[in-house]
Amino acid sequence: MPAATKVSVKPGKLLIDGQWVDGSKKFNTINPATEEVLAEITEASPADVDRAVEAARRAFEDRNGLWRKLSASERGRLIWKLADLIEKNIEELAELETLDNGKPIFESRYVDMPMVIDVLRYYAGLATKIHGETVNTFETAFTYTLREPVGVVGLIVPWNFPLLLASWKLGPALACGNTLVLKPAEQTPLTALKLGDLVIEAGFPSGVVNILTGGPETGKAIVTHPGIDKIAFTGSTAVGKEIMRGAADTLKRVTLELGGKSPNIVFADADIDNAVKGAINGIFYGKGEVCNAGSRLFLESKLKDDFTEKLVARASKMRPADPLDPKTRLGAIVSQEQMKTVLGFIEAGKSEGAKLVSGGNRTSVNGGKGFFIEPTIFGDVKNDMRIAQEEIFGPVLSVLTFDDIDEVIERANNNPYGLAAAVWTRDVKKAHMVSRRLKAGTVWINTYGLMDAALPFGGYKSSGFGRELGAHAIEHYTELKTVWLNMG
Ligand code: NAD
Repeated sequence: MPAATKVSVKPGKLLIDGQWVDGSKKFNTINPATEEVLAEITEASPADVDRAVEAARRAFEDRNGLWRKLSASERGRLIWKLADLIEKNIEELAELETLDNGKPIFESRYVDMPMVIDVLRYYAGLATKIHGETVNTFETAFTYTLREPVGVVGLIVPWNFPLLLASWKLGPALACGNTLVLKPAEQTPLTALKLGDLVIEAGFPSGVVNILTGGPETGKAIVTHPGIDKIAFTGSTAVGKEIMRGAADTLKRVTLELGGKSPNIVFADADIDNAVKGAINGIFYGKGEVCNAGSRLFLESKLKDDFTEKLVARASKMRPADPLDPKTRLGAIVSQEQMKTVLGFIEAGKSEGAKLVSGGNRTSVNGGKGFFIEPTIFGDVKNDMRIAQEEIFGPVLSVLTFDDIDEVIERANNNPYGLAAAVWTRDVKKAHMVSRRLKAGTVWINTYGLMDAALPFGGYKSSGFGRELGAHAIEHYTELKTVWLNMG
């Protein structure tokens, strides 16, 4: 029996210009741990996108409107208030995220939601610290720069960290004075809908935050809409490329946070027990549906047998379980489609000759329904196998071995992605040298997966471009204007 839910899930509408409105097309969002329908959700049509963009444009352009009249400090206070309301509703939001995505409630309640709050508070504080500069040019001129909001921003987010990844975009977009249209993924719309209620309660002026549920068609209408100035996207590399092409005609600004196949490199001089924990956490946290999952584990050859034995011992204790149970550490795969993709990769690993050392099967929890996969580990993986090159986005670890430092750097970099990487060693010089040579947006040394609202996150190569979090994100949500005053 799954643990009882405390939240009531209501049918989803669209938030346009401060009002919840209905639409004619509907789809269901389901609980991946039980396969039950959670709620009927409205799919925003191109006409709904038009209305939302018009509302956002009005709120942005109207110089006498409420949004434009707010000072940076007042904008910051509104964002802070939203963070407070999220904190007040944290149990409900965490539960909605777990019901919709299948992730353990432990993760939603103690990792995702606290970081959402932290990120919003970080950008609430940053709202008053966005500034241009005066520049010395000629004696007869006064020259300076202004940082102005870009305008109307389209935020498109995936299903793996639904509210968290929305907050990474919403925080800086609002701090800089933009207005926006947010589209959550069709698999996980529930927390974005609850966010809409909290945006209204916080007192954001109508039209500043619009929330449109729907799938790729709604996304495309946002990407191609001439009234939108910038797209901030997190999702797959394939869709990222489509978005770049779709945004070209209207020359929108685009930031893309895409997929990954992050190398986790363990040298023989590392603290082995910590490295084992890091490797397990790196791939099985979030069911492996994590953009920066440590899905390629490179072990120095002499470590192989002992390390693999320890990995398997830990993995075999991680049974998938009811996501609502606070003790659960491995939940349900987000959808049937994603489960099939992951099982397809497991078959590919077997047929390409990798050695299955743990897991490898669909499983059930207490004999019930739901999309669960055992934590899976492949040994003897070669760099050119699909399971070493492609993003699986599930609880599947590929273990490779190496003998030489140059060789492992070359192989770690020999992959289209470049989102993150980790190095485990007690040798400080080696750790820094390897970190510099890895083509990745984030490198962890003797840890895995740490994040902070103040530190930039983003990718090299096919993992996208632009950085989210930290002060650098402000550059992506502002235009830089130069002003010349003739004093001659
Ligand atoms: P996806 O690309 O299929 O979908 C992401 C979002 O884009 C959804 O809201 C979807 O409805 C929308 N969309 C789909 N097609 C579209 C189109 N043609 N035009 C506009 N919008 C469209 O990704 P997903 O399967 O939901 O998420 C998994 C992917 O996200 C993985 O590749 C993962 O690595 C990546 N991801 C990256 C990061 C990061 O920070 N780099 C973080 C989390 C997830």
